[in-house]
Amino acid sequence: MKTLENTNISDVVLYMNTNLDRYTTIKLGGNGNLAICKSIEGLKSLIKILNKNDIKYHLVGWGANQVLVHTNMYLYIKLDFAVDREYLKEVRDEYDLPASFPLNTLTSHAVKFGLLGWEVFTGIPASLGGAICMNAGTSLGEICEIVKEVTVLRPGGDIYSYKQEELKFDYRVNNFLKLGEIIISAKIIHKGIDTTQGARIKEYLEYRKSTQPLKTKNCGSVFKNHGHFKAGITIDKCGLKGFGTENIQVSHMHGNFIENNGAGSSTEFIQVVDNLKKEIERYSGQKFELEVKIH
Ligand SMILES: Cc1cc2nc3c(=O)[nH]c(=O)nc-3n(C[C@H](O)[C@H](O)[C@H](O)COP(=O)(O)OP(=O)(O)OC[C@H]3O[C@@H](n4cnc5c(N)ncnc54)[C@H](O)[C@@H]3O)c2cc1C
Repeated sequence: MKTLENTNISDVVLYMNTNLDRYTTIKLGGNGNLAICKSIEGLKSLIKILNKNDIKYHLVGWGANQVLVHTNMYLYIKLDFAVDREYLKEVRDEYDLPASFPLNTLTSHAVKFGLLGWEVFTGIPASLGGAICMNAGTSLGEICEIVKEVTVLRPGGDIYSYKQEELKFDYRVNNFLKLGEIIISAKIIHKGIDTTQGARIKEYLEYRKSTQPLKTKNCGSVFKNHGHFKAGITIDKCGLKGFGTENIQVSHMHGNFIENNGAGSSTEFIQVVDNLKKEIERYSGQKFELEVKIH
């Protein structure tokens, strides 16, 4: 990555050997290299240079479902595209939004105007791109239900828009993005207007506050549920709340959340997760797949 050190790219800010903890909600990143891209043109130029120099990259959205570990291997890329503040002043039939757009702003818009369908991402900390990549969702549904089109930058420099019929999703995964493709924007729709929708979303937000540790350093669900086996409930039943080290522990509030007290490290996190998996299997016979991305 030495080649990047003195590189100047318009609309790209490079941070070499910087502390990456702040780019994940669990505050686990360690030291590494990160580029913040403020425009599509900037991103295009960066990808061209990375390809030319054989440098691997990995996207970080809101960092709400990631722990960064392979800091020597990747240049991490965070999108920070400009937003027109007027855009959400009115209701639209469809919304064409940059991938870096925060979901909580969209939730406020849904509350204000009563948009049906947008309750599916209530309370999920995410960028739009990260949420689409993960097919984020709640018990009220998944974001794939309202995504109409996804535009990506391909590693070769082309821009391509996936139309609705090409978008394939499953539980907490997309099945259409190809290696190296970066979501740059997406079109989302709603399912009509209902004046009672705002109250429903607010009520669900309150419910989440009472069931999830939203104020601690964590990365949301560590494991995917499978079928009717819920990871959080299983961990609770196994008596594993509080399991871990002094710094990295299973939340006492929700069994599928792991919290960092601020002094933990990525390697410590991985050890805790590995040991936790073994304990879950020992006590319940269940194997759960990781939802959190370790990169
Ligand atoms: C308190 C808390 C509660 C949570 N509750 C929920 C919940 O109810 N439901 C749920 O589904 N999730 C939940 N999560 C997890 C997380 O919010 C979601 O997985 C979310 O979709 C992650 O979005 P992000 O922008 O943070 O992406 P990141 O976590 O940064 O990245 C996730 C993946 O997307 C990729 N990615 C990000 N941006 C792009 C892009 N532009 N192009 C291509 N790939 C990209 C990354 O490389 C990575 O593989 C919660 C997390 C926390 C901390």
